[in-house]
Amino acid sequence: MKIIMLGAPGAGKGTQAKKIAEKYGIPHISTGDIFRANIKNNTELGKKAKEYMDQGLLVPDELTCDLVTDRIQQDDCSKGFILDGFPRTIPQAEALDKALTAMGQSMDYAVNVDVADENIIDRMSGRRACLKCGATYHIITIPPKSEGICDNCGSELVQREDDKPETVKKRLDVYHEQTQPLIDYYNNQGILRTVDGTKDFEGVFQDIVMILG
Ligand code: ADP
Ligand code: ADP
Ligand code: ZN
Repeated sequence: MKIIMLGAPGAGKGTQAKKIAEKYGIPHISTGDIFRANIKNNTELGKKAKEYMDQGLLVPDELTCDLVTDRIQQDDCSKGFILDGFPRTIPQAEALDKALTAMGQSMDYAVNVDVADENIIDRMSGRRACLKCGATYHIITIPPKSEGICDNCGSELVQREDDKPETVKKRLDVYHEQTQPLIDYYNNQGILRTVDGTKDFEGVFQDIVMILG
């Protein structure tokens, strides 16, 4: 099963993608997580990516596409994978299609998690992240068992630098301009499925599982 998660920043892609990856036994590939891991380890890629991420801008396609097209050719992806946060531009989608075609494969579903902009700001301002294991919480809707501490690994939770309201606004603009066109792109391919992302976590998860079977 090869799945793309589409949706605005903060729509709940990552939260759902992790659970789906678990349920179907496929790797969860998040370009945001990959960039944050590179920033933490102070790699060349991390240094370059940070300049864009801090401003709420997309990391250039030439730093992003090869990363993903290499990743999906690794052994653990042979039974499928779930892409979270990639593609985010039409050229990225085209690069993905080209790589898959060369492998004799194609994507099965692009799941669009639909949440209106006015709900996004609340989602983002309450988001807390564990930089150690990648778990994500929300101070009100999906709180950790003990405040400020990751359920999985006990590390301290932080607010992401790019989740500040000014940056969130910029990221939403970037989403509408550069990423939203992918909805038509995958609709034209016949693989787009849209779910109501304003339902609670379980509700959205059930809807996605219904689609994937
Ligand atoms: P969110 O969870 O809010 O959707 P991500 O963790 O997916 O955010 O991404 C954080 C930032 O990383 C983005 O704002 C962007 O700067 C960068 N990024 C992640 N994925 C991509 C991508 N496919 N193309 C370009 N930039 C990306
Ligand atoms: P994305 O990966 O699309 O940027 P996340 O999965 O990180 O989004 O979710 C954004 C924030 O909203 C997080 O704080 C997360 O805990 C919370 N969240 C995710 N799904 C829901 C939901 N269905 N209802 C309420 N809050 C949610
Ligand atoms: Zn953790």
